Amino acid sequence: MNAYVARVIDYVKTKHANEPEFCQTVEEVFSSISPVIDAHPEYEKVDLLTRMVEPERMFTFRVVWCDDAGQWHTNIGYRCQFNGAIGPYKGGLRFQPNVTPSVIKFLGFEQTFKNSLTGLPMGGGKGGSDFDPTGKSDAEIMRFCQSFMTALYRYIGPDVDVPAGDMGVGGREIGYMYGQYRRLKGVWENGVLTGKGFTYGGSKTRPEATGYGAVYYLQEVLAHEGESIEGKTIAISGFGNVAWGICQKALHLGAKVVTLSGPDGYIYDPEGVSSSQEKVDFMLKMQASRRNKVQDYADKFGVQFFPGEKPWGVKADVIMPSAMQNDVRMESAEKIVANGIKYYIEVANMPTTNDALAYMMAQPNMIVAPSKAVNAGGVAVSGLEMSQNSERLVWSAEEVDEKLKGIMKTIHAMSVEAAEEYGLGYNLVAGANIAGFKKVATAMMEQGCF
Ligand code: GLU
Repeated sequence: MNAYVARVIDYVKTKHANEPEFCQTVEEVFSSISPVIDAHPEYEKVDLLTRMVEPERMFTFRVVWCDDAGQWHTNIGYRCQFNGAIGPYKGGLRFQPNVTPSVIKFLGFEQTFKNSLTGLPMGGGKGGSDFDPTGKSDAEIMRFCQSFMTALYRYIGPDVDVPAGDMGVGGREIGYMYGQYRRLKGVWENGVLTGKGFTYGGSKTRPEATGYGAVYYLQEVLAHEGESIEGKTIAISGFGNVAWGICQKALHLGAKVVTLSGPDGYIYDPEGVSSSQEKVDFMLKMQASRRNKVQDYADKFGVQFFPGEKPWGVKADVIMPSAMQNDVRMESAEKIVANGIKYYIEVANMPTTNDALAYMMAQPNMIVAPSKAVNAGGVAVSGLEMSQNSERLVWSAEEVDEKLKGIMKTIHAMSVEAAEEYGLGYNLVAGANIAGFKKVATAMMEQGCF
Protein backbone atom coordinates (compact mmCIF):
# COMPACT_ATOMS: atom_id res chain seq x y z
CA MET A 1 0.00 0.00 0.00
CA ASN A 2 1.10 3.58 -0.68
CA ALA A 3 2.95 4.82 2.41
CA TYR A 4 0.98 8.08 2.64
CA VAL A 5 -2.35 6.20 2.48
CA ALA A 6 -1.16 3.84 5.22
CA ARG A 7 -0.16 6.81 7.40
CA VAL A 8 -3.55 8.47 7.04
CA ILE A 9 -5.38 5.22 7.85
CA ASP A 10 -3.21 4.83 10.96
CA TYR A 11 -3.84 8.44 11.90
CA VAL A 12 -7.62 7.96 11.67
CA LYS A 13 -7.52 4.74 13.68
CA THR A 14 -5.57 6.48 16.45
CA LYS A 15 -7.37 9.80 16.40
CA HIS A 16 -10.83 8.27 16.13
CA ALA A 17 -10.28 5.03 18.04
CA ASN A 18 -13.68 5.53 19.68
CA GLU A 19 -15.43 5.59 16.28
CA PRO A 20 -15.09 2.01 14.98
CA GLU A 21 -17.53 2.23 12.06
CA PHE A 22 -15.91 5.41 10.80
CA CYS A 23 -12.40 3.89 10.98
CA GLN A 24 -13.69 0.80 9.17
CA THR A 25 -15.07 2.72 6.20
CA VAL A 26 -12.01 4.98 5.89
CA GLU A 27 -9.78 1.92 5.81
CA GLU A 28 -11.95 0.21 3.22
CA VAL A 29 -12.15 3.21 0.87
CA PHE A 30 -8.58 4.43 1.23
CA SER A 31 -6.99 0.99 0.79
CA SER A 32 -8.69 0.83 -2.61
CA ILE A 33 -7.48 4.21 -3.80
CA SER A 34 -3.83 3.54 -3.07
CA PRO A 35 -2.88 3.27 -6.78
CA VAL A 36 -4.52 6.66 -7.47
CA ILE A 37 -2.38 8.25 -4.77
CA ASP A 38 0.71 6.62 -6.32
CA ALA A 39 -0.21 8.25 -9.62
CA HIS A 40 -0.98 11.68 -8.09
CA PRO A 41 1.83 12.77 -5.77
CA GLU A 42 0.26 16.26 -5.69
CA TYR A 43 -2.42 14.91 -3.33
CA GLU A 44 0.13 14.07 -0.68
CA LYS A 45 1.76 17.51 -1.08
CA VAL A 46 -1.40 19.19 0.19
CA ASP A 47 -2.30 16.31 2.53
CA LEU A 48 -5.62 15.90 0.75
CA LEU A 49 -6.57 12.65 2.48
CA THR A 50 -6.45 14.08 5.99
CA ARG A 51 -8.77 16.87 4.84
CA MET A 52 -11.11 14.30 3.34
CA VAL A 53 -11.59 12.40 6.60
CA GLU A 54 -12.56 15.51 8.55
CA PRO A 55 -16.20 16.53 7.97
CA GLU A 56 -16.59 20.13 6.84
CA ARG A 57 -19.07 20.51 9.68
CA MET A 58 -20.84 18.20 12.12
CA PHE A 59 -23.18 19.14 14.92
CA THR A 60 -25.57 17.69 17.45
CA PHE A 61 -28.77 19.18 18.73
CA ARG A 62 -31.37 18.56 21.39
CA VAL A 63 -34.69 17.05 20.32
CA VAL A 64 -37.33 17.22 23.03
CA TRP A 65 -40.76 15.65 22.54
CA CYS A 66 -43.74 14.54 24.58
CA ASP A 67 -45.21 11.03 24.34
CA ASP A 68 -48.93 10.23 24.35
CA ALA A 69 -48.89 9.63 28.11
CA GLY A 70 -47.56 13.16 28.73
CA GLN A 71 -43.99 12.03 29.47
CA TRP A 72 -41.14 14.19 28.12
CA HIS A 73 -38.15 12.70 26.32
CA THR A 74 -34.86 14.14 25.12
CA ASN A 75 -33.02 12.62 22.17
CA ILE A 76 -29.82 13.62 20.39
CA GLY A 77 -30.09 14.89 16.81
CA TYR A 78 -27.12 14.84 14.40
CA ARG A 79 -26.20 16.33 11.06
CA CYS A 80 -22.86 15.74 9.43
CA GLN A 81 -22.10 17.96 6.41
CA PHE A 82 -19.20 15.86 5.29
CA ASN A 83 -18.08 17.13 1.93
CA GLY A 84 -19.59 19.88 -0.22
CA ALA A 85 -17.01 19.97 -3.03
CA ILE A 86 -19.32 18.78 -5.81
CA GLY A 87 -22.74 19.99 -4.65
CA PRO A 88 -24.96 20.79 -1.67
CA TYR A 89 -24.60 18.26 1.15
CA LYS A 90 -26.98 15.41 0.44
CA GLY A 91 -27.88 12.32 2.42
CA GLY A 92 -30.46 10.67 4.59
CA LEU A 93 -31.59 10.89 8.18
CA ARG A 94 -31.56 7.72 10.26
CA PHE A 95 -33.77 7.33 13.34
CA GLN A 96 -32.57 4.33 15.30
CA PRO A 97 -31.39 3.80 18.89
CA ASN A 98 -27.93 2.65 17.75
CA VAL A 99 -27.19 5.96 15.96
CA THR A 100 -23.88 7.35 17.29
CA PRO A 101 -21.45 9.98 16.01
CA SER A 102 -19.39 7.13 14.52
CA VAL A 103 -22.38 5.75 12.59
CA ILE A 104 -23.31 9.18 11.24
CA LYS A 105 -19.72 9.87 10.22
CA PHE A 106 -19.25 6.56 8.44
CA LEU A 107 -22.50 7.10 6.56
CA GLY A 108 -21.53 10.67 5.63
CA PHE A 109 -18.12 9.55 4.39
CA GLU A 110 -19.62 6.75 2.27
CA GLN A 111 -22.29 9.11 0.98
CA THR A 112 -19.66 11.51 -0.37
CA PHE A 113 -18.26 8.89 -2.77
CA LYS A 114 -21.65 7.32 -3.52
CA ASN A 115 -23.12 10.66 -4.53
CA SER A 116 -20.08 11.35 -6.67
CA LEU A 117 -20.67 8.05 -8.51
CA THR A 118 -24.22 9.05 -9.48
CA GLY A 119 -22.76 11.75 -11.74
CA LEU A 120 -25.17 14.29 -10.20
CA PRO A 121 -24.04 17.44 -8.38
CA MET A 122 -24.47 16.31 -4.77
CA GLY A 123 -22.03 16.55 -1.87
CA GLY A 124 -22.08 14.09 1.02
CA GLY A 125 -24.00 14.42 4.28
CA LYS A 126 -25.89 12.33 6.79
CA GLY A 127 -27.85 12.81 9.96
CA GLY A 128 -30.40 11.35 12.28
CA SER A 129 -31.15 10.65 15.88
CA ASP A 130 -30.97 7.94 18.53
CA PHE A 131 -34.79 8.08 18.65
CA ASP A 132 -36.43 4.63 18.40
CA PRO A 133 -39.56 4.68 16.21
CA THR A 134 -40.53 1.10 17.19
CA GLY A 135 -43.98 1.06 18.74
CA LYS A 136 -44.47 4.84 18.56
CA SER A 137 -47.88 6.25 17.67
CA ASP A 138 -48.42 8.45 14.65
CA ALA A 139 -48.84 11.51 16.88
CA GLU A 140 -45.58 10.75 18.69
CA ILE A 141 -43.74 10.41 15.39
CA MET A 142 -45.18 13.74 14.26
CA ARG A 143 -44.17 15.56 17.43
CA PHE A 144 -40.68 14.09 17.25
CA CYS A 145 -40.24 15.07 13.58
CA GLN A 146 -41.48 18.61 14.24
CA SER A 147 -39.11 19.06 17.13
CA PHE A 148 -36.24 17.61 15.07
CA MET A 149 -36.89 20.03 12.21
CA THR A 150 -37.28 23.01 14.58
CA ALA A 151 -33.68 22.42 15.61
CA LEU A 152 -32.35 21.71 12.11
CA TYR A 153 -34.15 24.05 9.71
CA ARG A 154 -31.70 26.96 9.91
CA TYR A 155 -28.82 24.79 8.76
CA ILE A 156 -30.32 23.21 5.64
CA GLY A 157 -31.80 24.46 2.36
CA PRO A 158 -32.12 23.49 -1.32
CA ASP A 159 -28.64 24.91 -2.08
CA VAL A 160 -27.15 24.15 1.32
CA ASP A 161 -27.98 20.68 2.58
CA VAL A 162 -30.78 18.39 1.46
CA PRO A 163 -31.72 15.60 3.89
CA ALA A 164 -33.83 12.57 2.96
CA GLY A 165 -34.88 9.28 4.52
CA ASP A 166 -32.84 6.37 5.75
CA MET A 167 -33.66 3.68 8.32
CA GLY A 168 -36.65 4.75 10.44
CA VAL A 169 -37.38 7.71 8.15
CA GLY A 170 -39.81 7.25 5.24
CA GLY A 171 -42.41 9.29 3.42
CA ARG A 172 -44.47 9.96 6.52
CA GLU A 173 -41.56 11.37 8.55
CA ILE A 174 -40.35 13.46 5.58
CA GLY A 175 -43.88 14.88 5.29
CA TYR A 176 -44.00 15.97 8.94
CA MET A 177 -40.52 17.46 8.68
CA TYR A 178 -41.32 19.31 5.47
CA GLY A 179 -44.54 20.70 6.98
CA GLN A 180 -42.58 22.05 9.92
CA TYR A 181 -39.86 23.53 7.67
CA ARG A 182 -42.47 25.34 5.61
CA ARG A 183 -44.22 26.65 8.71
CA LEU A 184 -40.99 27.95 10.21
CA LYS A 185 -39.55 29.49 7.03
CA GLY A 186 -42.74 30.66 5.40
CA VAL A 187 -41.45 29.79 1.92
CA TRP A 188 -42.15 27.10 -0.66
CA GLU A 189 -38.76 25.45 -0.83
CA ASN A 190 -39.62 21.85 -1.42
CA GLY A 191 -36.12 21.14 -2.76
CA VAL A 192 -34.94 21.13 0.87
CA LEU A 193 -35.90 17.49 1.40
CA THR A 194 -36.25 14.50 -0.89
CA GLY A 195 -38.44 11.44 -0.59
CA LYS A 196 -41.50 13.67 -0.30
CA GLY A 197 -45.09 12.69 -1.06
CA PHE A 198 -46.22 13.03 -4.68
CA THR A 199 -48.68 15.84 -3.88
CA TYR A 200 -45.94 18.28 -2.90
CA GLY A 201 -42.98 17.57 -5.14
CA GLY A 202 -41.89 14.00 -4.43
CA SER A 203 -40.39 12.19 -7.40
CA LYS A 204 -42.14 9.23 -8.92
CA THR A 205 -40.16 6.01 -8.29
CA ARG A 206 -38.27 7.46 -5.27
CA PRO A 207 -39.74 4.93 -2.78
CA GLU A 208 -38.72 2.02 -5.02
CA ALA A 209 -35.47 3.55 -6.31
CA THR A 210 -32.88 2.00 -4.00
CA GLY A 211 -34.22 -1.53 -4.46
CA TYR A 212 -34.86 -1.11 -8.19
CA GLY A 213 -31.43 0.41 -8.69
CA ALA A 214 -29.81 -2.49 -6.84
CA VAL A 215 -31.53 -4.99 -9.13
CA TYR A 216 -30.56 -2.97 -12.24
CA TYR A 217 -26.96 -3.02 -11.03
CA LEU A 218 -27.20 -6.79 -10.43
CA GLN A 219 -28.44 -7.16 -14.01
CA GLU A 220 -25.31 -5.36 -15.25
CA VAL A 221 -23.11 -7.75 -13.27
CA LEU A 222 -25.00 -10.78 -14.57
CA ALA A 223 -24.78 -9.48 -18.13
CA HIS A 224 -21.03 -9.13 -17.69
CA GLU A 225 -20.98 -12.85 -16.84
CA GLY A 226 -23.29 -13.75 -19.71
CA GLU A 227 -26.18 -14.61 -17.39
CA SER A 228 -29.72 -13.36 -16.89
CA ILE A 229 -31.70 -12.59 -13.75
CA GLU A 230 -34.71 -14.69 -14.67
CA GLY A 231 -35.09 -17.68 -12.37
CA LYS A 232 -32.22 -16.64 -10.10
CA THR A 233 -32.69 -17.21 -6.36
CA ILE A 234 -31.72 -14.29 -4.14
CA ALA A 235 -31.20 -14.33 -0.37
CA ILE A 236 -31.62 -10.93 1.22
CA SER A 237 -31.67 -9.53 4.75
CA GLY A 238 -33.96 -6.83 6.09
CA PHE A 239 -37.60 -6.21 5.24
CA GLY A 240 -37.58 -2.42 5.00
CA ASN A 241 -37.95 -0.05 2.10
CA VAL A 242 -34.86 -1.30 0.25
CA ALA A 243 -35.75 -4.99 0.60
CA TRP A 244 -39.27 -4.18 -0.58
CA GLY A 245 -37.99 -2.47 -3.75
CA ILE A 246 -35.79 -5.48 -4.52
CA CYS A 247 -38.74 -7.87 -4.10
CA GLN A 248 -41.00 -5.70 -6.27
CA LYS A 249 -38.46 -5.56 -9.10
CA ALA A 250 -37.65 -9.28 -8.71
CA LEU A 251 -41.36 -9.97 -9.15
CA HIS A 252 -41.34 -8.00 -12.44
CA LEU A 253 -38.24 -9.78 -13.71
CA GLY A 254 -38.96 -13.34 -12.61
CA ALA A 255 -36.28 -13.67 -9.93
CA LYS A 256 -36.98 -15.41 -6.64
CA VAL A 257 -36.21 -13.66 -3.33
CA VAL A 258 -36.26 -16.52 -0.82
CA THR A 259 -35.40 -14.85 2.49
CA LEU A 260 -36.18 -11.75 4.55
CA SER A 261 -34.83 -10.93 7.98
CA GLY A 262 -35.51 -8.73 10.98
CA PRO A 263 -34.12 -8.24 14.46
CA ASP A 264 -36.12 -11.35 15.48
CA GLY A 265 -34.65 -13.80 12.88
CA TYR A 266 -35.24 -14.71 9.25
CA ILE A 267 -37.93 -16.33 7.12
CA TYR A 268 -37.37 -18.76 4.25
CA ASP A 269 -39.97 -18.79 1.50
CA PRO A 270 -38.98 -21.40 -1.11
CA GLU A 271 -41.62 -20.13 -3.56
CA GLY A 272 -40.26 -16.61 -3.24
CA VAL A 273 -41.42 -13.45 -1.49
CA SER A 274 -41.35 -12.11 -5.02
CA SER A 275 -43.77 -14.77 -6.27
CA SER A 276 -46.91 -12.66 -5.76
CA GLN A 277 -47.96 -9.05 -5.39
CA GLU A 278 -49.82 -9.99 -2.21
CA LYS A 279 -46.57 -11.08 -0.56
CA VAL A 280 -44.66 -8.00 -1.68
CA ASP A 281 -47.48 -5.74 -0.47
CA PHE A 282 -47.48 -7.53 2.88
CA MET A 283 -43.96 -6.21 3.47
CA LEU A 284 -45.39 -2.69 3.50
CA LYS A 285 -47.95 -3.74 6.09
CA MET A 286 -45.23 -5.24 8.26
CA GLN A 287 -43.30 -1.97 8.09
CA ALA A 288 -46.34 0.19 8.77
CA SER A 289 -47.21 -1.88 11.87
CA ARG A 290 -43.90 -0.71 13.43
CA ARG A 291 -43.66 -4.05 15.25
CA ASN A 292 -40.27 -4.68 13.59
CA LYS A 293 -40.92 -8.44 13.44
CA VAL A 294 -40.35 -10.53 10.32
CA GLN A 295 -42.03 -13.52 11.95
CA ASP A 296 -45.33 -11.90 10.95
CA TYR A 297 -44.56 -12.95 7.36
CA ALA A 298 -44.05 -16.59 8.36
CA ASP A 299 -47.29 -16.57 10.37
CA LYS A 300 -49.22 -15.07 7.46
CA PHE A 301 -47.91 -17.28 4.64
CA GLY A 302 -47.04 -20.48 6.54
CA VAL A 303 -43.32 -20.54 5.75
CA GLN A 304 -40.42 -21.37 8.04
CA PHE A 305 -39.13 -18.85 10.57
CA PHE A 306 -35.66 -19.15 12.11
CA PRO A 307 -35.61 -17.14 15.35
CA GLY A 308 -32.43 -15.26 16.17
CA GLU A 309 -30.65 -16.39 12.97
CA LYS A 310 -29.30 -14.65 9.90
CA PRO A 311 -30.09 -15.96 6.41
CA TRP A 312 -26.45 -16.37 5.31
CA GLY A 313 -26.39 -20.17 5.48
CA VAL A 314 -29.07 -20.40 2.78
CA LYS A 315 -28.15 -21.71 -0.69
CA ALA A 316 -28.99 -19.17 -3.39
CA ASP A 317 -27.53 -17.75 -6.59
CA VAL A 318 -27.18 -14.23 -5.23
CA ILE A 319 -26.73 -12.75 -1.75
CA MET A 320 -27.93 -9.18 -1.18
CA PRO A 321 -27.53 -7.95 2.41
CA SER A 322 -30.08 -5.15 2.66
CA ALA A 323 -30.49 -4.53 6.38
CA MET A 324 -27.71 -2.60 8.12
CA GLN A 325 -23.98 -2.23 8.73
CA ASN A 326 -21.86 -5.23 9.72
CA ASP A 327 -24.63 -7.71 9.07
CA VAL A 328 -22.16 -10.11 7.40
CA ARG A 329 -19.15 -10.99 9.54
CA MET A 330 -16.45 -13.58 8.99
CA GLU A 331 -18.51 -16.56 10.20
CA SER A 332 -21.30 -15.66 7.74
CA ALA A 333 -18.82 -15.04 4.91
CA GLU A 334 -17.41 -18.54 5.48
CA LYS A 335 -20.89 -20.03 5.08
CA ILE A 336 -21.49 -18.02 1.90
CA VAL A 337 -18.18 -19.21 0.43
CA ALA A 338 -18.80 -22.82 1.55
CA ASN A 339 -22.15 -22.71 -0.28
CA GLY A 340 -20.33 -21.79 -3.49
CA ILE A 341 -22.33 -18.61 -4.02
CA LYS A 342 -20.98 -16.56 -6.91
CA TYR A 343 -22.66 -13.18 -6.50
CA TYR A 344 -22.28 -11.17 -3.33
CA ILE A 345 -24.02 -7.85 -3.93
CA GLU A 346 -23.96 -5.44 -0.99
CA VAL A 347 -27.02 -3.24 -0.71
CA ALA A 348 -27.20 -1.77 2.82
CA ASN A 349 -24.49 0.73 3.69
CA MET A 350 -21.32 -1.16 4.75
CA PRO A 351 -23.10 -4.47 5.43
CA THR A 352 -19.83 -6.41 5.50
CA THR A 353 -16.94 -6.24 7.97
CA ASN A 354 -13.62 -5.48 6.26
CA ASP A 355 -12.15 -8.94 6.95
CA ALA A 356 -15.25 -10.69 5.59
CA LEU A 357 -15.24 -8.46 2.51
CA ALA A 358 -11.55 -9.11 1.80
CA TYR A 359 -12.09 -12.87 2.28
CA MET A 360 -14.92 -13.00 -0.25
CA MET A 361 -13.10 -10.73 -2.72
CA ALA A 362 -10.15 -13.13 -2.59
CA GLN A 363 -12.31 -16.07 -3.77
CA PRO A 364 -11.49 -16.65 -7.43
CA ASN A 365 -15.07 -17.62 -8.33
CA MET A 366 -16.87 -14.84 -6.51
CA ILE A 367 -18.01 -11.45 -7.70
CA VAL A 368 -18.39 -8.86 -4.97
CA ALA A 369 -20.19 -5.57 -5.58
CA PRO A 370 -20.00 -2.68 -3.09
CA SER A 371 -22.97 -0.92 -1.52
CA LYS A 372 -21.89 2.58 -2.48
CA ALA A 373 -22.44 1.63 -6.11
CA VAL A 374 -25.30 -0.85 -5.72
CA ASN A 375 -27.53 1.33 -3.51
CA ALA A 376 -26.73 4.64 -5.25
CA GLY A 377 -30.03 4.52 -7.15
CA GLY A 378 -31.85 5.86 -4.09
CA VAL A 379 -29.85 9.03 -3.78
CA ALA A 380 -29.67 9.31 -7.57
CA VAL A 381 -33.45 9.58 -7.76
CA SER A 382 -33.24 12.05 -4.88
CA GLY A 383 -30.98 14.08 -7.17
CA LEU A 384 -33.61 13.81 -9.89
CA GLU A 385 -36.22 14.98 -7.36
CA MET A 386 -34.06 18.04 -6.65
CA SER A 387 -33.86 18.77 -10.39
CA GLN A 388 -37.62 18.50 -10.80
CA ASN A 389 -38.21 20.75 -7.77
CA SER A 390 -35.84 23.44 -8.96
CA GLU A 391 -37.40 23.39 -12.44
CA ARG A 392 -40.94 23.23 -11.00
CA LEU A 393 -41.83 20.25 -13.12
CA VAL A 394 -42.85 16.64 -12.71
CA TRP A 395 -41.44 13.67 -14.62
CA SER A 396 -43.48 10.51 -15.15
CA ALA A 397 -42.59 7.25 -13.42
CA GLU A 398 -41.36 5.91 -16.79
CA GLU A 399 -39.08 8.90 -17.33
CA VAL A 400 -37.55 8.58 -13.87
CA ASP A 401 -37.16 4.81 -14.18
CA GLU A 402 -35.38 5.20 -17.53
CA LYS A 403 -32.98 7.74 -16.00
CA LEU A 404 -32.40 5.48 -13.00
CA LYS A 405 -31.56 2.54 -15.28
CA GLY A 406 -29.13 4.70 -17.23
CA ILE A 407 -27.43 5.91 -14.03
CA MET A 408 -26.99 2.35 -12.67
CA LYS A 409 -25.57 1.22 -16.00
CA THR A 410 -23.12 4.13 -15.98
CA ILE A 411 -22.06 3.50 -12.37
CA HIS A 412 -21.23 -0.11 -13.24
CA ALA A 413 -19.40 0.91 -16.41
CA MET A 414 -17.43 3.67 -14.63
CA SER A 415 -16.39 1.24 -11.90
CA VAL A 416 -15.24 -1.33 -14.43
CA GLU A 417 -13.26 1.31 -16.32
CA ALA A 418 -11.65 2.79 -13.19
CA ALA A 419 -10.48 -0.63 -11.99
CA GLU A 420 -9.14 -1.50 -15.43
CA GLU A 421 -7.27 1.79 -15.67
CA TYR A 422 -5.25 0.71 -12.63
CA GLY A 423 -4.82 -2.89 -13.83
CA LEU A 424 -7.15 -4.35 -11.21
CA GLY A 425 -9.39 -6.39 -13.52
CA TYR A 426 -13.12 -6.78 -12.84
CA ASN A 427 -12.89 -5.40 -9.32
CA LEU A 428 -16.13 -3.56 -8.64
CA VAL A 429 -15.19 -2.60 -5.08
CA ALA A 430 -11.94 -0.87 -6.00
CA GLY A 431 -13.49 0.52 -9.18
CA ALA A 432 -16.34 2.23 -7.32
CA ASN A 433 -14.01 3.66 -4.70
CA ILE A 434 -11.59 4.97 -7.32
CA ALA A 435 -14.27 6.45 -9.58
CA GLY A 436 -16.08 8.10 -6.64
CA PHE A 437 -12.86 9.42 -5.14
CA LYS A 438 -11.40 10.90 -8.32
CA LYS A 439 -14.19 13.39 -8.89
CA VAL A 440 -14.28 14.61 -5.28
CA ALA A 441 -10.48 14.86 -5.16
CA THR A 442 -10.33 16.81 -8.41
CA ALA A 443 -13.05 19.22 -7.26
CA MET A 444 -11.30 19.79 -3.94
CA MET A 445 -7.97 20.47 -5.67
CA GLU A 446 -9.53 22.84 -8.22
CA GLN A 447 -11.27 24.78 -5.45
CA GLY A 448 -8.03 25.37 -3.61
CA CYS A 449 -8.50 22.18 -1.65
CA PHE A 450 -10.97 23.81 0.74
N1 GLU B 1 -30.35 7.20 2.80
C1 GLU B 1 -30.17 6.91 1.41
C2 GLU B 1 -28.72 6.56 1.15
O1 GLU B 1 -28.09 5.94 1.98
C3 GLU B 1 -30.72 8.00 0.51
C4 GLU B 1 -30.10 9.35 0.71
C5 GLU B 1 -30.79 10.45 -0.10
O2 GLU B 1 -31.68 10.16 -0.88
O3 GLU B 1 -30.38 11.59 0.10
O4 GLU B 1 -28.15 6.82 0.13
